[in-house]
Amino acid sequence: MEQTLPDRVDVVVVGGGFAGAATACFLAHRGITDILVLEAADQFGAAASGLNASMIRQVATDPVTGALLRASATEIRHGDWADPVEARWNGSLLLTEGERGTPVLDAARAAATAGLDCRIVDRDQATARVPLLAAAHFDHAIWTPGDGVIDISALLWRYLRAAKRGGARLVTGCPVTGVEVEAGRVAAVRTPQGRTACRVLVDAAGAWAGEIATLAGLAPLPLTPYRRHLVVTPPQAWVDTSWPLTWHLTDDWYFRPEVGGLMLSPCDQTPCPAGPTPRDPAVLELLAERLAARCPPLANLPIQTWWAGLRTLAADGRFVIGPDPRLSGFYWVAGLGGHGMTGSAAVGELAAALVAGGTVDGGIARAVEPGRFLAG
Ligand SMILES: Cc1cc2nc3c(=O)[nH]c(=O)nc-3n(C[C@H](O)[C@H](O)[C@H](O)COP(=O)(O)OP(=O)(O)OC[C@H]3O[C@@H](n4cnc5c(N)ncnc54)[C@H](O)[C@@H]3O)c2cc1C
Repeated sequence: MEQTLPDRVDVVVVGGGFAGAATACFLAHRGITDILVLEAADQFGAAASGLNASMIRQVATDPVTGALLRASATEIRHGDWADPVEARWNGSLLLTEGERGTPVLDAARAAATAGLDCRIVDRDQATARVPLLAAAHFDHAIWTPGDGVIDISALLWRYLRAAKRGGARLVTGCPVTGVEVEAGRVAAVRTPQGRTACRVLVDAAGAWAGEIATLAGLAPLPLTPYRRHLVVTPPQAWVDTSWPLTWHLTDDWYFRPEVGGLMLSPCDQTPCPAGPTPRDPAVLELLAERLAARCPPLANLPIQTWWAGLRTLAADGRFVIGPDPRLSGFYWVAGLGGHGMTGSAAVGELAAALVAGGTVDGGIARAVEPGRFLAG
Protein backbone atom coordinates (compact mmCIF):
# COMPACT_ATOMS: atom_id res chain seq x y z
CA MET A 1 0.00 0.00 0.00
CA GLU A 2 1.42 3.38 -1.00
CA GLN A 3 1.85 5.70 1.96
CA THR A 4 2.67 9.39 2.06
CA LEU A 5 5.98 10.05 3.72
CA PRO A 6 6.51 13.00 6.06
CA ASP A 7 8.48 15.97 4.62
CA ARG A 8 10.89 15.93 7.53
CA VAL A 9 11.73 13.72 10.51
CA ASP A 10 14.53 13.67 13.01
CA VAL A 11 15.73 10.10 12.35
CA VAL A 12 15.25 7.79 9.36
CA VAL A 13 15.97 4.12 10.10
CA VAL A 14 16.68 2.18 6.89
CA GLY A 15 15.74 -1.50 7.29
CA GLY A 16 13.07 -3.25 9.34
CA GLY A 17 14.94 -6.29 10.62
CA PHE A 18 16.23 -6.73 14.16
CA ALA A 19 18.85 -3.97 13.76
CA GLY A 20 16.38 -1.33 12.61
CA ALA A 21 13.46 -2.40 14.80
CA ALA A 22 15.51 -2.55 18.01
CA THR A 23 17.23 0.78 17.28
CA ALA A 24 13.87 2.48 16.65
CA CYS A 25 12.48 0.93 19.85
CA PHE A 26 15.32 2.18 22.04
CA LEU A 27 15.36 5.60 20.36
CA ALA A 28 11.69 5.96 21.26
CA HIS A 29 12.49 4.77 24.76
CA ARG A 30 15.01 7.62 25.03
CA GLY A 31 12.43 10.17 23.96
CA ILE A 32 13.54 10.47 20.32
CA THR A 33 10.14 9.86 18.82
CA ASP A 34 10.26 11.63 15.46
CA ILE A 35 11.40 8.46 13.67
CA LEU A 36 10.59 6.99 10.27
CA VAL A 37 11.41 3.30 9.74
CA LEU A 38 11.61 2.46 6.03
CA GLU A 39 11.58 -1.20 4.96
CA ALA A 40 12.05 -2.11 1.29
CA ALA A 41 10.19 -5.43 1.49
CA ASP A 42 6.44 -5.79 1.85
CA GLN A 43 6.85 -6.94 5.43
CA PHE A 44 9.19 -6.38 8.33
CA GLY A 45 11.70 -9.14 9.03
CA ALA A 46 11.60 -10.41 5.46
CA ALA A 47 15.37 -10.99 5.24
CA ALA A 48 17.79 -12.51 7.78
CA SER A 49 15.57 -11.51 10.71
CA GLY A 50 12.77 -13.76 9.50
CA LEU A 51 14.95 -16.58 8.21
CA ASN A 52 17.17 -17.34 11.18
CA ALA A 53 17.31 -20.32 13.52
CA SER A 54 15.65 -18.51 16.47
CA MET A 55 18.35 -19.55 18.92
CA ILE A 56 19.40 -17.41 21.87
CA ARG A 57 23.05 -18.37 22.45
CA GLN A 58 25.16 -16.29 24.80
CA VAL A 59 28.69 -17.72 24.68
CA ALA A 60 30.81 -16.23 21.88
CA THR A 61 34.55 -16.40 21.33
CA ASP A 62 34.89 -12.65 20.93
CA PRO A 63 34.64 -10.99 24.38
CA VAL A 64 32.88 -7.84 23.13
CA THR A 65 30.26 -9.84 21.25
CA GLY A 66 29.84 -12.10 24.28
CA ALA A 67 29.24 -9.14 26.61
CA LEU A 68 26.60 -7.72 24.24
CA LEU A 69 24.91 -11.11 23.86
CA ARG A 70 24.68 -11.64 27.61
CA ALA A 71 23.26 -8.16 28.22
CA SER A 72 20.82 -8.59 25.37
CA ALA A 73 19.58 -12.03 26.37
CA THR A 74 18.94 -10.76 29.89
CA GLU A 75 16.98 -7.79 28.54
CA ILE A 76 14.96 -9.97 26.15
CA ARG A 77 14.09 -12.47 28.87
CA HIS A 78 13.77 -10.33 31.98
CA GLY A 79 13.30 -6.76 30.72
CA ASP A 80 10.18 -4.75 31.43
CA TRP A 81 8.30 -5.26 28.14
CA ALA A 82 4.66 -4.65 27.29
CA ASP A 83 4.49 -7.55 24.81
CA PRO A 84 5.23 -11.12 25.92
CA VAL A 85 7.36 -13.29 23.64
CA GLU A 86 7.16 -17.06 23.78
CA ALA A 87 10.40 -18.94 24.26
CA ARG A 88 11.64 -22.37 25.32
CA TRP A 89 14.58 -21.96 27.68
CA ASN A 90 15.91 -25.50 27.23
CA GLY A 91 19.53 -24.37 27.39
CA SER A 92 22.35 -24.99 24.94
CA LEU A 93 25.14 -27.51 24.55
CA LEU A 94 28.11 -26.21 22.57
CA LEU A 95 30.30 -29.20 21.64
CA THR A 96 34.04 -28.99 20.99
CA GLU A 97 36.73 -31.42 19.95
CA GLY A 98 40.48 -31.10 20.13
CA GLU A 99 42.59 -27.97 20.36
CA ARG A 100 40.34 -25.98 18.05
CA GLY A 101 37.86 -25.92 20.93
CA THR A 102 40.24 -24.10 23.27
CA PRO A 103 39.20 -20.51 22.39
CA VAL A 104 35.51 -21.14 22.98
CA LEU A 105 36.17 -23.11 26.18
CA ASP A 106 38.24 -20.14 27.38
CA ALA A 107 35.38 -17.83 26.35
CA ALA A 108 32.93 -19.92 28.38
CA ARG A 109 35.19 -19.68 31.44
CA ALA A 110 35.40 -15.90 30.98
CA ALA A 111 31.63 -15.66 30.54
CA ALA A 112 31.11 -17.66 33.75
CA THR A 113 33.49 -15.30 35.57
CA ALA A 114 31.45 -12.39 34.21
CA GLY A 115 28.32 -13.91 35.74
CA LEU A 116 26.79 -16.13 33.04
CA ASP A 117 25.43 -19.43 34.32
CA CYS A 118 27.46 -21.75 32.07
CA ARG A 119 29.86 -24.61 32.72
CA ILE A 120 32.06 -27.05 30.85
CA VAL A 121 30.74 -30.61 31.04
CA ASP A 122 32.13 -33.95 29.83
CA ARG A 123 30.74 -36.37 27.26
CA ASP A 124 28.69 -38.32 29.80
CA GLN A 125 27.03 -35.22 31.21
CA ALA A 126 26.20 -33.94 27.72
CA THR A 127 24.91 -37.32 26.59
CA ALA A 128 22.69 -37.52 29.66
CA ARG A 129 20.87 -34.47 28.27
CA VAL A 130 20.77 -35.58 24.61
CA PRO A 131 21.25 -39.37 24.37
CA LEU A 132 21.97 -39.45 20.61
CA LEU A 133 25.23 -37.61 21.34
CA ALA A 134 26.64 -40.99 22.47
CA ALA A 135 27.31 -41.54 18.74
CA ALA A 136 28.86 -38.10 18.16
CA HIS A 137 32.54 -37.15 18.14
CA PHE A 138 33.33 -34.50 20.76
CA ASP A 139 35.43 -34.05 23.90
CA HIS A 140 33.67 -31.33 25.87
CA ALA A 141 30.44 -29.38 25.92
CA ILE A 142 29.56 -25.97 27.29
CA TRP A 143 26.21 -26.16 29.08
CA THR A 144 24.33 -22.84 29.29
CA PRO A 145 20.91 -23.40 30.89
CA GLY A 146 19.66 -19.86 30.15
CA ASP A 147 19.94 -20.22 26.37
CA GLY A 148 16.92 -21.22 24.30
CA VAL A 149 14.70 -20.81 21.28
CA ILE A 150 12.42 -17.81 20.86
CA ASP A 151 9.49 -16.71 18.69
CA ILE A 152 11.43 -14.38 16.36
CA SER A 153 8.37 -12.78 14.81
CA ALA A 154 6.99 -11.88 18.24
CA LEU A 155 10.38 -10.50 19.29
CA LEU A 156 10.67 -8.33 16.17
CA TRP A 157 7.15 -7.02 16.67
CA ARG A 158 7.85 -6.33 20.35
CA TYR A 159 10.47 -3.82 19.18
CA LEU A 160 8.33 -2.43 16.35
CA ARG A 161 5.25 -2.00 18.56
CA ALA A 162 7.27 -0.28 21.25
CA ALA A 163 8.72 2.06 18.62
CA LYS A 164 5.25 2.75 17.23
CA ARG A 165 3.79 3.41 20.67
CA GLY A 166 6.63 5.89 21.15
CA GLY A 167 5.67 7.76 17.99
CA ALA A 168 7.72 6.09 15.23
CA ARG A 169 6.16 5.76 11.79
CA LEU A 170 6.66 2.32 10.20
CA VAL A 171 6.50 1.96 6.42
CA THR A 172 6.97 -1.22 4.35
CA GLY A 173 7.39 -1.57 0.59
CA CYS A 174 9.47 1.62 0.56
CA PRO A 175 13.12 1.21 -0.44
CA VAL A 176 15.54 4.05 0.12
CA THR A 177 16.90 4.80 -3.36
CA GLY A 178 18.88 7.94 -2.67
CA VAL A 179 20.58 9.79 0.18
CA GLU A 180 21.08 13.53 -0.04
CA VAL A 181 24.11 15.09 1.59
CA GLU A 182 24.51 18.83 2.24
CA ALA A 183 27.49 20.58 3.76
CA GLY A 184 29.04 17.34 4.89
CA ARG A 185 26.01 15.93 6.63
CA VAL A 186 23.03 13.73 5.86
CA ALA A 187 20.15 15.89 4.64
CA ALA A 188 17.41 13.60 3.28
CA VAL A 189 16.47 10.19 1.91
CA ARG A 190 14.73 9.61 -1.40
CA THR A 191 12.31 6.76 -2.09
CA PRO A 192 9.80 5.97 -4.85
CA GLN A 193 7.18 7.39 -2.45
CA GLY A 194 8.95 10.73 -2.04
CA ARG A 195 11.67 12.57 -0.19
CA THR A 196 12.03 12.95 3.56
CA ALA A 197 14.54 15.35 5.08
CA CYS A 198 16.29 14.10 8.22
CA ARG A 199 19.02 14.94 10.71
CA VAL A 200 20.13 11.32 11.18
CA LEU A 201 20.12 8.24 8.96
CA VAL A 202 20.54 4.85 10.66
CA ASP A 203 21.84 2.30 8.17
CA ALA A 204 20.28 -0.95 9.43
CA ALA A 205 19.94 -2.54 6.00
CA GLY A 206 21.66 -5.84 6.82
CA ALA A 207 23.23 -7.34 3.69
CA TRP A 208 22.37 -4.10 1.85
CA ALA A 209 24.08 -1.80 4.37
CA GLY A 210 26.97 -1.18 1.98
CA GLU A 211 24.52 -0.12 -0.75
CA ILE A 212 22.99 2.52 1.53
CA ALA A 213 26.46 3.85 2.32
CA THR A 214 27.23 4.03 -1.39
CA LEU A 215 24.02 6.04 -1.93
CA ALA A 216 25.40 8.50 0.61
CA GLY A 217 28.69 8.72 -1.29
CA LEU A 218 30.63 6.62 1.24
CA ALA A 219 32.96 3.79 0.30
CA PRO A 220 31.44 0.70 1.91
CA LEU A 221 33.00 -0.89 5.01
CA PRO A 222 34.33 -4.49 4.80
CA LEU A 223 31.00 -6.25 5.31
CA THR A 224 30.27 -9.52 3.49
CA PRO A 225 26.96 -11.38 3.31
CA TYR A 226 27.35 -15.16 3.65
CA ARG A 227 24.61 -17.64 2.83
CA ARG A 228 23.61 -20.29 5.38
CA HIS A 229 21.00 -23.06 5.02
CA LEU A 230 18.55 -24.44 7.56
CA VAL A 231 16.77 -27.78 7.20
CA VAL A 232 13.65 -28.90 9.10
CA THR A 233 12.54 -32.52 9.37
CA PRO A 234 8.96 -33.72 9.80
CA PRO A 235 8.04 -34.76 13.37
CA GLN A 236 10.09 -37.72 14.62
CA ALA A 237 8.79 -39.92 17.45
CA TRP A 238 12.26 -40.12 19.04
CA VAL A 239 12.82 -36.37 19.29
CA ASP A 240 12.49 -35.01 22.83
CA THR A 241 11.20 -31.45 22.70
CA SER A 242 13.01 -30.66 25.94
CA TRP A 243 16.45 -31.13 24.32
CA PRO A 244 18.70 -28.08 24.33
CA LEU A 245 19.93 -26.50 21.13
CA THR A 246 23.11 -28.45 20.33
CA TRP A 247 25.90 -26.89 18.27
CA HIS A 248 29.16 -28.64 17.37
CA LEU A 249 31.41 -25.61 17.14
CA THR A 250 34.53 -27.35 15.84
CA ASP A 251 32.67 -29.66 13.42
CA ASP A 252 30.22 -27.02 12.16
CA TRP A 253 26.73 -28.45 12.50
CA TYR A 254 23.84 -27.85 14.84
CA PHE A 255 20.36 -29.12 15.61
CA ARG A 256 17.49 -28.29 17.90
CA PRO A 257 13.91 -29.48 18.38
CA GLU A 258 11.40 -27.87 16.00
CA VAL A 259 7.67 -28.73 16.05
CA GLY A 260 8.27 -32.39 17.00
CA GLY A 261 11.10 -32.77 14.49
CA LEU A 262 14.52 -31.18 14.26
CA MET A 263 15.99 -28.07 12.69
CA LEU A 264 19.54 -28.70 11.46
CA SER A 265 22.26 -26.68 9.76
CA PRO A 266 25.60 -27.60 8.20
CA CYS A 267 26.82 -24.10 9.16
CA ASP A 268 27.68 -23.40 5.52
CA GLN A 269 29.18 -19.98 4.89
CA THR A 270 29.29 -19.02 1.21
CA PRO A 271 29.82 -15.38 0.20
CA CYS A 272 26.74 -14.16 -1.71
CA PRO A 273 25.62 -10.78 -3.02
CA ALA A 274 22.79 -9.06 -1.14
CA GLY A 275 19.47 -10.21 -2.57
CA PRO A 276 17.39 -13.35 -2.83
CA THR A 277 19.09 -16.49 -1.53
CA PRO A 278 18.32 -19.49 -3.76
CA ARG A 279 18.85 -22.88 -2.10
CA ASP A 280 21.79 -25.04 -3.13
CA PRO A 281 21.07 -28.82 -3.12
CA ALA A 282 24.80 -29.51 -2.68
CA VAL A 283 24.39 -28.26 0.89
CA LEU A 284 22.07 -31.16 1.69
CA GLU A 285 24.80 -33.56 0.58
CA LEU A 286 27.31 -31.67 2.71
CA LEU A 287 25.03 -31.98 5.74
CA ALA A 288 24.39 -35.70 5.16
CA GLU A 289 28.09 -36.47 4.68
CA ARG A 290 29.18 -34.51 7.72
CA LEU A 291 26.57 -36.06 10.00
CA ALA A 292 27.16 -39.59 8.67
CA ALA A 293 30.80 -39.20 9.70
CA ARG A 294 30.33 -37.25 12.92
CA CYS A 295 26.87 -38.02 14.36
CA PRO A 296 25.25 -40.90 12.41
CA PRO A 297 21.81 -40.82 14.11
CA LEU A 298 21.23 -37.38 12.53
CA ALA A 299 22.31 -38.33 8.99
CA ASN A 300 19.83 -38.73 6.14
CA LEU A 301 16.70 -37.71 8.03
CA PRO A 302 13.66 -36.86 5.90
CA ILE A 303 13.31 -33.18 5.02
CA GLN A 304 10.08 -31.25 5.36
CA THR A 305 11.36 -27.83 4.39
CA TRP A 306 14.64 -25.99 3.92
CA TRP A 307 15.76 -22.47 3.17
CA ALA A 308 18.75 -20.15 3.13
CA GLY A 309 19.43 -16.67 4.48
CA LEU A 310 22.29 -14.19 4.63
CA ARG A 311 24.48 -13.60 7.66
CA THR A 312 26.42 -10.38 7.12
CA LEU A 313 29.81 -10.29 8.81
CA ALA A 314 32.38 -7.55 9.23
CA ALA A 315 35.97 -8.46 8.38
CA ASP A 316 36.80 -8.83 12.09
CA GLY A 317 33.53 -10.61 12.92
CA ARG A 318 32.33 -7.87 15.30
CA PHE A 319 29.15 -5.84 15.09
CA VAL A 320 29.43 -2.43 13.38
CA ILE A 321 27.57 0.14 15.46
CA GLY A 322 27.97 3.90 15.62
CA PRO A 323 28.54 7.11 13.66
CA ASP A 324 30.50 7.12 10.41
CA PRO A 325 33.33 9.63 10.95
CA ARG A 326 33.22 10.59 7.25
CA LEU A 327 29.65 11.89 7.23
CA SER A 328 27.75 13.66 10.03
CA GLY A 329 24.41 12.12 10.80
CA PHE A 330 25.18 8.72 9.21
CA TYR A 331 25.06 5.82 11.71
CA TRP A 332 25.75 2.13 11.04
CA VAL A 333 23.93 -0.71 12.80
CA ALA A 334 25.19 -3.58 10.70
CA GLY A 335 27.40 -6.64 10.56
CA LEU A 336 25.25 -8.51 13.07
CA GLY A 337 26.47 -11.80 11.56
CA GLY A 338 25.11 -14.91 13.24
CA HIS A 339 24.17 -13.18 16.50
CA GLY A 340 21.82 -10.40 15.43
CA MET A 341 18.63 -11.77 16.94
CA THR A 342 20.24 -12.66 20.28
CA GLY A 343 22.14 -9.39 20.35
CA SER A 344 19.26 -7.21 19.19
CA ALA A 345 18.32 -5.60 22.51
CA ALA A 346 21.90 -4.60 23.38
CA VAL A 347 22.59 -3.52 19.79
CA GLY A 348 19.47 -1.33 19.73
CA GLU A 349 20.26 0.15 23.13
CA LEU A 350 23.83 1.02 22.17
CA ALA A 351 22.86 2.44 18.78
CA ALA A 352 20.11 4.57 20.32
CA ALA A 353 22.44 5.86 23.04
CA LEU A 354 25.02 6.85 20.43
CA VAL A 355 22.44 8.67 18.29
CA ALA A 356 21.02 10.39 21.36
CA GLY A 357 24.44 11.36 22.71
CA GLY A 358 23.85 9.34 25.88
CA THR A 359 26.29 7.52 28.12
CA VAL A 360 27.72 4.28 26.75
CA ASP A 361 30.32 1.74 27.79
CA GLY A 362 33.32 3.34 26.09
CA GLY A 363 35.24 0.09 25.68
CA ILE A 364 32.38 -1.64 23.91
CA ALA A 365 31.50 1.41 21.79
CA ARG A 366 35.12 1.73 20.59
CA ALA A 367 35.33 -1.99 19.80
CA VAL A 368 32.32 -1.88 17.49
CA GLU A 369 32.73 1.61 16.00
CA PRO A 370 32.68 1.79 12.18
CA GLY A 371 35.79 4.00 12.18
CA ARG A 372 37.96 1.01 13.10
CA PHE A 373 38.00 0.08 9.43
CA LEU A 374 39.02 3.54 8.22
CA ALA A 375 42.67 4.40 7.96
CA GLY A 376 43.93 7.39 9.96
C1 LIG B 1 20.28 -19.10 8.44
C2 LIG B 1 20.51 -18.10 9.55
C3 LIG B 1 20.44 -18.53 10.88
C4 LIG B 1 20.62 -17.60 11.91
N1 LIG B 1 20.42 -18.01 13.19
C5 LIG B 1 20.51 -17.10 14.21
C6 LIG B 1 20.20 -17.49 15.54
O1 LIG B 1 19.81 -18.62 15.80
N2 LIG B 1 20.36 -16.57 16.53
C7 LIG B 1 20.74 -15.27 16.26
O2 LIG B 1 20.88 -14.49 17.19
N3 LIG B 1 20.97 -14.86 14.99
C8 LIG B 1 20.86 -15.75 13.96
N4 LIG B 1 21.10 -15.36 12.68
C9 LIG B 1 21.55 -13.97 12.44
C10 LIG B 1 20.41 -12.97 12.46
O3 LIG B 1 19.30 -13.44 11.74
C11 LIG B 1 20.93 -11.66 11.85
O4 LIG B 1 22.11 -11.24 12.49
C12 LIG B 1 19.90 -10.54 11.98
O5 LIG B 1 18.63 -10.95 11.56
C13 LIG B 1 20.36 -9.33 11.16
O6 LIG B 1 19.38 -8.34 11.28
P1 LIG B 1 19.45 -7.03 10.40
O7 LIG B 1 18.31 -6.19 10.78
O8 LIG B 1 20.83 -6.46 10.47
O9 LIG B 1 19.31 -7.54 8.89
P2 LIG B 1 18.02 -7.99 8.05
O10 LIG B 1 17.11 -8.83 8.85
O11 LIG B 1 18.54 -8.56 6.78
O12 LIG B 1 17.27 -6.64 7.79
C14 LIG B 1 17.72 -5.67 6.87
C15 LIG B 1 16.49 -5.11 6.22
O13 LIG B 1 16.86 -3.99 5.41
C16 LIG B 1 15.96 -3.96 4.34
N5 LIG B 1 16.52 -3.14 3.27
C17 LIG B 1 17.53 -3.43 2.42
N6 LIG B 1 17.74 -2.43 1.56
C18 LIG B 1 16.85 -1.46 1.87
C19 LIG B 1 16.58 -0.17 1.34
N7 LIG B 1 17.26 0.32 0.31
N8 LIG B 1 15.59 0.56 1.89
C20 LIG B 1 14.86 0.08 2.94
N9 LIG B 1 15.09 -1.16 3.48
C21 LIG B 1 16.08 -1.90 2.96
C22 LIG B 1 15.84 -5.42 3.94
O14 LIG B 1 14.67 -5.66 3.17
C23 LIG B 1 15.81 -6.10 5.28
O15 LIG B 1 14.50 -6.35 5.75
C24 LIG B 1 20.93 -16.24 11.61
C25 LIG B 1 20.99 -15.82 10.28
C26 LIG B 1 20.76 -16.73 9.27
C27 LIG B 1 20.78 -16.26 7.84
